[in-house]
Amino acid sequence: MGIPENIQNLKNRIEKVTSKIGKTPAEVKLIAVSKTRTVEEIERALENGIDLIGENKVQESEKKIPKLKDKYREFHFVGHLQSNKIKKLMPLKPAMIHSIDKFSTAKKLDKFIKKNNLAKQKILIEVNTSGEKTKFGTKPDQTISLVKQISQLPNLKIMGLMTIGIFSSDEDKIRKCFKQLSSLFTTIKNKNISNVQMQYLSMGMTNDFEIAIEEGANIIRIGTYIFGQRNY
Ligand SMILES: *Cc1c(COP(=O)(O)O)cnc(C)c1O
Repeated sequence: MGIPENIQNLKNRIEKVTSKIGKTPAEVKLIAVSKTRTVEEIERALENGIDLIGENKVQESEKKIPKLKDKYREFHFVGHLQSNKIKKLMPLKPAMIHSIDKFSTAKKLDKFIKKNNLAKQKILIEVNTSGEKTKFGTKPDQTISLVKQISQLPNLKIMGLMTIGIFSSDEDKIRKCFKQLSSLFTTIKNKNISNVQMQYLSMGMTNDFEIAIEEGANIIRIGTYIFGQRNY
C-alpha cells in the first residue's frame, strides 16, 4: 500500500483508540519518523496529512531537512544525541529534542545555545523503561534527580518524558513500560519544578502506539506504519 493510504489507515486507528478512552485525535501529536526515507517519500507524507517529522540521526537530518524547508510544521529530533553533533543539529531548528538522557549532554546543549544566542530549546527526557541494556535513556529511579538538575539550565525547557517500549510480543510487558513512564510523568508534574513543564508524554511506535495512547501518550512516533518496512 502507498503512503497516503497508510496515513489514512493509521489515522483511523488513532481515531478509534482515542475515542475509546474519551480523547480526540487532536490531543495526540503524530510524528512521522522518516529515518532512511528519501526526501520524495517524506514529501508524499507531507502532502497527505502529515505535518510533523522526526529523524534519529543528525547526519541524515542535515542532508534531508533543509530540502524540506517550508513543507513541514515541525522537525523533531528523536534519536540519541551525541554532544559533538549539537552544532550540526541546532541550525535545523528542532521543535523538540526527545532524547536527552545525560546531564553532560544537556549542559553542552545549554552552553551552545547561550554562545550562539539561540532561543530556549524544548527537550524531553528519555527514560529507559524496558531495562534493555542496548537502549538509551536514564534509569527510571534516576529520572527525577536528572530532571531537577537539567531544570537549572536556563536555555533548556523540559517539556515531558519519552521512552521506547520494550521490544516484545507480550502486550503486558509493553504496557508496563508505558505505565511506568506515565506514572513518573505524573509524579514529576505534581512536584511543580520551576522551568519544567510536564506537558508531553512521547511514547508509542508502529507496533505499540495503541497501548501507548491508552496509557496516556500525547505524542506518538511512527515510521514503518507510514512508510513501510525499512531497508537498512
Ligand atoms: C525509528 C523510530 C521510531 C519509529 O519506529 P517504527 O517502529 O518504524 O514506527 C520511533 N521512535 C524512535 C526514537 C525511532 O528511532
